[in-house]
Amino acid sequence: MPPASAAATPASSAGQFLAPVFSQYPLEVAAAHGVWLTNSRGERVLDLYGGHAVAALGYGHPAWTAALARQAQLCQFQSNAVALAVRARVAERLVRFAQLPESCVFFVNSGAEANENALKIALRTTGRRRVAAIEGAFHGRTAAAGAVTWGAQQKWYGFPRAPFDVSFIPRGDRAAIHANITRRTAAVIVEPVQGVAGAVELGEEFLGALRARCDAVGALLIFDEVQCGVGRTGQPFAANLYGIVPDLLTTAKALGNGFPCAALLMSPPICAQLAVESLGTTFGGGPMACAAIEAVLEAIESQQLLARVRHLGALIRESCIVGPVSAHQGAGLLVGLRTTRPAKAIQAELLECGILAGTASDPHVLRLLPPFILEDEHVELLRDALRELPA
Ligand code: PLP
Repeated sequence: MPPASAAATPASSAGQFLAPVFSQYPLEVAAAHGVWLTNSRGERVLDLYGGHAVAALGYGHPAWTAALARQAQLCQFQSNAVALAVRARVAERLVRFAQLPESCVFFVNSGAEANENALKIALRTTGRRRVAAIEGAFHGRTAAAGAVTWGAQQKWYGFPRAPFDVSFIPRGDRAAIHANITRRTAAVIVEPVQGVAGAVELGEEFLGALRARCDAVGALLIFDEVQCGVGRTGQPFAANLYGIVPDLLTTAKALGNGFPCAALLMSPPICAQLAVESLGTTFGGGPMACAAIEAVLEAIESQQLLARVRHLGALIRESCIVGPVSAHQGAGLLVGLRTTRPAKAIQAELLECGILAGTASDPHVLRLLPPFILEDEHVELLRDALRELPA
């Protein structure tokens, strides 16, 4: 079936019982397979957004689906109060995948929760009260994660005060690194490639300077790889891409391919300071989540998806600077396409052509976060659609 010529479909029900907190695309998804969504009119839409970077294996991946079905039949849930082979196995696999040997893993349920725990650990282990973050960053909507999110105070934060002192470092500003990270700083939290901001690479030099300054003053470096991790840059994590080892690394989204889960990886000295009750969760590390993570890591490795991400990322950058797209940014399949007109208008025009893309907090960036199983022909569909749009 060809892609929809007019894929914009209003929701079939008004959803009046849902909290009115999301602006939604004019698209109701009834089903999905591979890299294709089917809307409620039965038309296909090419998904280049992957549910905010989540559907790394696309939809209905056979091994992922089978792993969840198998685990559901075996045992759908036990908390961390009991040992589970799948949990122990997947923790080891994640540490090996990340190439951070001797690390330990704490599984949670969402990116914000992983960041909340990372910040708590950093403040506790250093005994300090200050955190530095980067301008443009997004780290989640909970009390601590929201406190280090750029612009949250003005837009939606809602808590009367942040749980610690926060300062923001302008991107690329080496002098500000010195001024903002001192012997009173517990941690620096950074997305190595900023996602919501529009796929903004902070670069090896800036990230290396953060690492060096943290080492000099005894602060901990937290990489938030909730969006840019688990293969999205074409390496297991952006930490591998830039050759910089953080003290704590958080990840979520693609980790479960849609089964809610997240993880916090911690360096050996931090692991050594943890004790029973330092951290806790009911659902984190549940067997269904662990089965999903195991299937994702297995598919990335056995299907050589990291190489595919690198290839597709390069192909998009080579071929899609056409029509209203003037430049590209980001890494791997975290792609920012810089647009000559407001990205929201181009997003709407692409949806009319049967292609779903995302936007970013930068109004002139179209953000692509497609499944890693995308094929060259799908990139050609995007290129052809963009070419037809007014520049
Ligand atoms: N950190 C980053 C970099 C993100 O992009 C997001 C979500 O977009 C989060 C944290 C929050 O993750 P979650 O929505 O799973 O809490």
